[in-house]
Amino acid sequence: MTVADQVVQTPITSRPPTNNRAALEYVHAGPKQLYIDGKWKTARAGENFEVFDPATGRVMVEVALAEAADIDDAVKAARKAFQAPSWARISPHQRSRYLLRIADIIERNIEELATIQAVDIGMVLAQSRQLTATMPDVFRYYAGFTTKILGNTFPSDGSALTYTLREPLGVVGAIIPWNSPAFAFAWKVAPALACGNTVVLKPAEQAPLLPLRLAELLEEAELPPGVLNIVPGFGAGAGDALAKHPDVNKINFTGSTSVGKGILAASAGNLKKVTLELGGKSPNIIFADADLDKAIPAAVMGFSAGAGQICVAGTRIFIHEAVYQDVAAAISKAAQSLKVGAPLDPTTVVGPIISRKQFDRVTDYIRVGEDEGAILRAGGKPQGGQGYFVAPTVFENVTDRMRIVREEIFGPVAALIPFKDENDAVFRANDTDFGLAASVWTRDVSKAHTVARALEAGTVWINTIFELDVIAPYGGYKQSGTGRELGPDSIEANTQLKTVVTRF
Ligand code: ADP
Repeated sequence: MTVADQVVQTPITSRPPTNNRAALEYVHAGPKQLYIDGKWKTARAGENFEVFDPATGRVMVEVALAEAADIDDAVKAARKAFQAPSWARISPHQRSRYLLRIADIIERNIEELATIQAVDIGMVLAQSRQLTATMPDVFRYYAGFTTKILGNTFPSDGSALTYTLREPLGVVGAIIPWNSPAFAFAWKVAPALACGNTVVLKPAEQAPLLPLRLAELLEEAELPPGVLNIVPGFGAGAGDALAKHPDVNKINFTGSTSVGKGILAASAGNLKKVTLELGGKSPNIIFADADLDKAIPAAVMGFSAGAGQICVAGTRIFIHEAVYQDVAAAISKAAQSLKVGAPLDPTTVVGPIISRKQFDRVTDYIRVGEDEGAILRAGGKPQGGQGYFVAPTVFENVTDRMRIVREEIFGPVAALIPFKDENDAVFRANDTDFGLAASVWTRDVSKAHTVARALEAGTVWINTIFELDVIAPYGGYKQSGTGRELGPDSIEANTQLKTVVTRF
């Protein structure tokens, strides 16, 4: 496989173009409505907002704009559903069957969903296929949990019985970003429903189409009305109203660190439980004894897959000084060779940036890097016509204090940094406010695990990158978040414990 194949993680020869007419028709058919209480509705104020195609910069479709009053309707519907016997009193087996049905429906429609996501967020179709393909597994994994959400019994004297019940929280508000609606939807909805909660999900205003289409498709699962509500809108309107709502019990948020801090503050009103999956500036550490044939393409993928708009993107690439020159040259050369283009073109390796605003932000950072004295080795320029394309960009000659090394750019921009030894690599990798993920490349097992322990990150990959699987928890150290998603941790995060003491 070429580096380009590895960045997309699919050889170009096995990337069929989409002929999914259903998806292409869906993305242009509008205006789309809000999904509240099992019904499709216009917004109370009757307003819509525009969704743009990142590959062309043109308006693709209009979507109903949820505001505080609509959020209130959705929360009321979710509360009613949470208390209704049709959801609150069903057996764990029945809840499991709902999740399994959802998994089957997603699987049957996977190509349509992958295509909608690719078009809506500008993600290369082959990558979008990989992400959506994981959704059924997430629902099936949590379907298995419904019958295994256990309490405990505690030792007591002979005339007492003390036990715990692990109960749902109630109404869960999910606020998700645009960079991977497929992941965010599955990761937030599956465990919340498995535990018996109901959900109000606010998609990102840049990319509401996948969650909306899912709501349509999932009608076939016949969840009771109000169990799952989808309310697209802006962050400052719908998102803030959900985070503040006094009848929402938990907010599960993925997005930027600055908005995450605001959500935490907004949640304080009724002391909601909060899970935050926030930004990152992940280090990728390549030791001299690494398998460079694997480490180099992985490093390129680490900052250019998804056009770098991935929370765990490995944007600080630390390279041991003994191999620095060769590895840096190889990374820059590979980055220059990647084809930037439209997401549905099977030869594209790097798609567009999501929006004009993000495009301006990424290109501003590139200017900042140059102004600070970093040297461009690849990219650095916008590419192609109307869409928001940025070529994979590599900087050398960076210092640890530069903004391009300290701040999350959320675009295909990497900094190459030589290091002396293990301690130097760990110290500088940890010299950041973030702590989402990190990668280590070495053939030395002891070094790999010593460094893995020393790194301040919620996920550490050894000789691999981007492996996220529902089986294991995911989340951030430091300002990359609080709480964990996936694995059994999502069950804990979607339930609360009640202690029952009986005296007889
Ligand atoms: P990103 O940089 O990934 O777009 P954001 O943090 O801006 O991340 O957005 C993530 C999600 O948070 C989106 O659904 C967005 O609408 C929402 N959001 C943005 N601002 C707020 C806010 N003040 N309150 C609640 N939600 C918000």
